[in-house]
Order: sequence, then structure tokens, then C-alpha cells
Amino acid sequence: MQILTFDECALFIILLFWVFALIRKEYKNRSGKILMFLLTLVLLTVIADLGGGTICNYCSGGRANLILAYVYNYLYFFCHNLLLPVYMLYIYSSLDLWHIFREYRFRHALWWGLIIVDNVVLALNGFVFDVFKLTDDITYVRGPWLVVFYLVAVIYLGWILGTLIRFRTYILKDKLSTLIFLFVSVSTGLAIQLTQTGLLVECFCISLAVLFFMVMLRRAVNQVNPITGAQKYTACIEKVTMNFKSAKPISVVFVKIVNNNNLHMYLGLKGHNEFLYSTTSRIDAICAGHGLTSSVYYMENGLYAIVSDEAVEEIVADAAEEIMASLTAEHHIGKLTVFADVRVCVVFCPKDMSDSSSLFSLGTNFHRTLPDTQNVHYYRDFKDNDEYKVRNDLDDILRRAVRDNNFEMYYQPIYSVREKKFVAAEAMIRLNDPIYGQVPPSLFIPAAEINGCIHDIGDFVFNDVIRFISTLDMNALGLKYIEMNLSASQCIEVDLVDKIKNLMFEYGVDPRFVSFELTEAATDMNPEIVDMNIRKLHEYGVKIALDDYGTGYSNIKRTTGLPIDQVKLDKSFVDMIDDPQMCIVIQDTISMFKEMDKEVLVEGVEEEAVARKFSDLEADLIQGCELMQGFFFCKPIPGPEFLDFIKRYKDKAFESII
Ligand code: C2E
Ligand code: MG
Ligand code: MG
Repeated sequence: MQILTFDECALFIILLFWVFALIRKEYKNRSGKILMFLLTLVLLTVIADLGGGTICNYCSGGRANLILAYVYNYLYFFCHNLLLPVYMLYIYSSLDLWHIFREYRFRHALWWGLIIVDNVVLALNGFVFDVFKLTDDITYVRGPWLVVFYLVAVIYLGWILGTLIRFRTYILKDKLSTLIFLFVSVSTGLAIQLTQTGLLVECFCISLAVLFFMVMLRRAVNQVNPITGAQKYTACIEKVTMNFKSAKPISVVFVKIVNNNNLHMYLGLKGHNEFLYSTTSRIDAICAGHGLTSSVYYMENGLYAIVSDEAVEEIVADAAEEIMASLTAEHHIGKLTVFADVRVCVVFCPKDMSDSSSLFSLGTNFHRTLPDTQNVHYYRDFKDNDEYKVRNDLDDILRRAVRDNNFEMYYQPIYSVREKKFVAAEAMIRLNDPIYGQVPPSLFIPAAEINGCIHDIGDFVFNDVIRFISTLDMNALGLKYIEMNLSASQCIEVDLVDKIKNLMFEYGVDPRFVSFELTEAATDMNPEIVDMNIRKLHEYGVKIALDDYGTGYSNIKRTTGLPIDQVKLDKSFVDMIDDPQMCIVIQDTISMFKEMDKEVLVEGVEEEAVARKFSDLEADLIQGCELMQGFFFCKPIPGPEFLDFIKRYKDKAFESII
């Protein structure tokens, strides 16, 4: 039976990983290139070792064989001696310590000096020094100068160990343990081969180390995703975290394709992948064109991060401008042409920002938190801007608000044109943050929907408003109901109805005094559960209103299918009342809902002229609207003020609206 030698096993393992690395395009960035070079050196070392060994074992003479054996042995020593210096470069590069290596001339000189010593000794083998010899019957004989190679190797190993120990706190645990294993395995191989001359295990040890290394380190990190052509999210996190720890200056350019989902829809999966790949290529080419040492990462949902080392700010800014211009230009994907809606934000670290979680949070949110323009944004320009700070800090603001109850309910009176008096109110939440002051609901409600605390906010609203209603003598005040806003995600709460029923029971509030507003978007998601909740609430006796009518894609089928008592025409819709065409649309919309037996309310009435148009005071009046609400009558005000206001206007027409 033929037994495989250590060298044959090593060759098999290394060849496998060499091909593997090639297929996975590991050579894209600097550390990938060094790794590829290292693997190639290991492969050549093993081939030369095996080739030289085979000739020595199976040939007993012949000039050609002797020359070939010398070639193999020289190749072996040349490649073998380069392994540790290249491995050393790999450590500096993959741990993002390249700048440290380059900065210190002594390190540079030592690195080159040791390589030169090795190669001078090798070149002079047979003349002055005696490293190895091949006898006429092709037997390999070690010479005394071979020890120089081992000494140089020991210096490199010591240097590597020192580097790993010195920067151990910067290195993620799994990376550190793998690099240490690599170190132990290579030194063990060297030691065995030096002391047990018959056991040629060094190459095998190196290949084992490479195997462990590829399995442990090159799995998800630092790989280029073949679909996007960019490196993965995890690689970006690792690089940036490392850079922050070593305080190495980098620039990060975030590129967000805002309409990524739409592009996915238009182009299909294959076309969209092609789009992402070509976008990465465009970015790569631009960075290379500006001479930037950059890595392009595809994070997710159309977000790219371009991290550049040792970058001059002006050059990064030029590259960012060019990326914006290039990506907003048309993209040809197969027979289709699409345009990307792009936002770009540039951050210089650690100058502008010094922790990775804030950096990634900026990357994920900047397209929402910054003005919606297609200029390149520079983080340093807006980081101290109050509005930006609030938008960026919304999660913390909300967490604080839910914990400390920083909410308060305000009430905006609703005026009845028909009855000529205030008959209801809409409850609106206010958030008063101890750091940022009043934060508008248009900002925090969408953020609460995304982070999930909208349910806690909803519970606060239900409790506070139902309790407030219980303190009012609704009939005596001439109030019919108080409206509460329900957000889309509240409409699908399983226990929504029970929760509300329990509260009304607890506070002894008649369901007729309560109304819930929902938007068209809310009625559209998960229709089954929304239908069930809304129907149950309606059957229980509360009113249901459709809020912001005219802003969404009106789905008449959905609107008519639900038990809706009131439709609230949105301000933006009503603002166009001076346009004669719009006037017809508004009039017909009102008539349509009247015929369906629904109450119609106009929101956002700011001026008397609009109020008059919807009342019966104008010749070209719009007929059929019963209710109005807006700053013209009253802004949303706190509960006690609202009570005073209602008492003041009880059974009385408002100002000029007689
Ligand atoms: P919405 O339900 O359509 O509320 C009307 C918004 O318009 C309120 O803004 C109100 O202050 C404002 N408004 C009222 N009259 C006028 C006017 O004449 N002119 C102008 N320009 N605006 C007027 P607010 O309070 O900032 O609320 C914005 C949105 O936040 C609300 O729109 C609603 O969708 C949501 N929201 C407010 N409170 C709550 C709440 O308690 N729960 C939930 N889920 N959402 C709420
Ligand atoms: Mg509302
Ligand atoms: Mg509204």
C-alpha cells in the first residue's frame, strides 16, 4: 500500500485553498493580494520540496537530474525564506496596521535586511557558504550555514509574536487565536525539522496552519460577495472597529441608493444583481482613478460604504462628488435603462466621529435624517445642527420618553359648520425631551413605528385620553366625542380591542364618546386583522374616522368595505382649493362621501377664507362639509386649556363663522 508523504498531503491541502481563494477572488484588496501571494509561495515551497525530495529518493545519478534537484532546492529555499516576511506583511495589512509598518524606517529596513541576508547566503551557497549540497548520487546534505535561515526565521517569528502581543487588544478574539495557532504551528514545524532531520513535517505544519486559517478567518470576513462584487458587511465592521481602536485616520463615504427596492422590482433579481455589480465597479474605478486605497463594502438595502486609508480630505471629496455624478447618471441593465436615487455622506474618522456604532447608525439613517438633496453631505457640516441631532437621536429620545413618561396629550377642537359650535376634539401627542425640548410627532411617530415603541406610546395615549374623557361632562360641554390617532402598526395588535374595552370599563367611559382615526396606509396592511379590529371596535360603539384622506393612493374598495363614520380631508388636498379643477374634485369627493352616509371634516383650516368656503358664507361655497379643524380655530392645546376654550365657546359660533 502506498502511503502519502507529509509533503503530498501538504500539496493537496494548499492546492485546494489556492484554487479556492482564486475562485473567491480573494485578491481584491491589499490583504487579499498579500494572502494570495503567501498561498502561492506556500504552494511553490511544497512543490519544490516534493520535487527535490522525489529526485533525491528515486534517482541515483545523472547530470540532468542533479541540475533539476538543485533548481528544486534553490526554489524551495527562496520561497520558503519569503514565507515568514510575507506572513508578517499579511498580519500588518489584515490587522490594519499597515501605516505602523510603513511609518517606522527601522522596521522597513529590518524586514528588507533579513530577506537580503537569506538570499545572499543562498546565492553564495557552494562558493563561500555551505548551506546545502547535493552529492553525485543526488543525496541531499545539510551544510552548517543552513542555521542562518533558521536564525532569520526565529527573528521573524519573534517579531510576529511581539506584534500579536502588542496589538492583542485591537484584534478580535477569533482572529487572534487563529494567528497564534498559525504561529505555533509554523514554529513547531521548524523546530521538528531542525532537530529531527528525518522528519520533513515543516510544509505539512504550514499547510495545516493555512487550513485552520482559511476555515477560521476567511469564512465570512473579508470576502468579496460575487453577486455585488463588493466586500461584505461583516468585513466593514471589522475594519472600522480595528481602525477606531488604533486611531488610524480613515474616510468613510456612505452611498445610499434610496430607490433600491423599486429598482429590484423593475429589474428583477438578476438585473438587480447586475446593477449592484456595475455600481461597485463604477465606485471601484472612481476610487482607483483618484489614487485612493479604498475598500468597497455592500452593507444591505442599497447601502455601500467606501473606506479609504490615509486619505487626503480633498481627494475623498472629489471622489465622492464623482461617485454621486456617476451613480445618478443612467444605468443600462440589459435592455433596460434605470436611474438611481442616490444620497452620499462623507465622514472623516476619528476626527468627525470616533465610535463604530455611531458610524453605522449614521450609515443606516443619514438618508432619512438629512435634507433630501442630491448634494454630497459632509458629516462635519451638520453634526452640530440641532435638527440633525434630534433626528439622529430619536431612538434614545423615545427610549427616555417611554421610560420617564415624557409625553403629554394636547387637544385640538373640532368645529361643526352645521351646528355652529365646537362639538369634538382630536387628541394629539406631544413629546417633551429634557435635552432637546419639544419633538414633533411627525418626527417621532414614524421612528416609533420602526423601532416598535409605538405600542407603548399607543397605550399611553389610550390611558391618558380615556382618563381625561372620564373627567369631562361631555354632554354638558356639548362634546360628542374625542378622537385618537391609531398608527398602522397599532391596528394589527391582537389585544387592541380588549385593551380599549378594559380601559373604558375601568374609567366608566361611554364608547360613543370615543373615536379612532386611521390612515389609508393603515387600512391597507394586513387587511384581515385590521378589518377584525376595526369592526369589533365599531360594534362596541366607538366611531371610526379615516385620517389624511387625499394623501395616499385612495383604495375605494378598502374605504367602502370598512365601517367608517367620518372622512378627514387632508390639509394638502384642501390647500389647492383655489384651483378650479381641484375645487370640483373636492366638491365631488364630499358629495360622494355624503351619499355614502359619512361625515366629512376638513383638516388644516388656517385662514378665514378657507373656513368661509367650506361654510355657507360664500357664493361659490363648497357644500356638504360638516366639520372643520385647524389653526384658524385653535391650535392643539393642553387638556386644562382645552377645557377653558370649550367652556368659553360653549353653544357659541366661532368669531366670524356665524
Ligand atoms: P394628523 O392626525 O393628521 O394631525 C393633524 C396634524 O396637523 C397635527 O400635527 C396638527 O397639529 C396639525 N394641524 C392642525 N391644524 C393645522 C393647521 O391649521 N395647519 C397646519 N399646518 N397644521 C395643522 P401634529 O400634532 O404635529 O401631528 C402630526 C401627525 O402625527 C398627526 O397627523 C398624526 O398622524 C400623528 N400623531 C399625532 N398624535 C398622535 C398620537 O397620539 N398617536 C399617533 N399614533 N399618531 C399621532
Ligand atoms: Mg389625526
Ligand atoms: Mg390628518
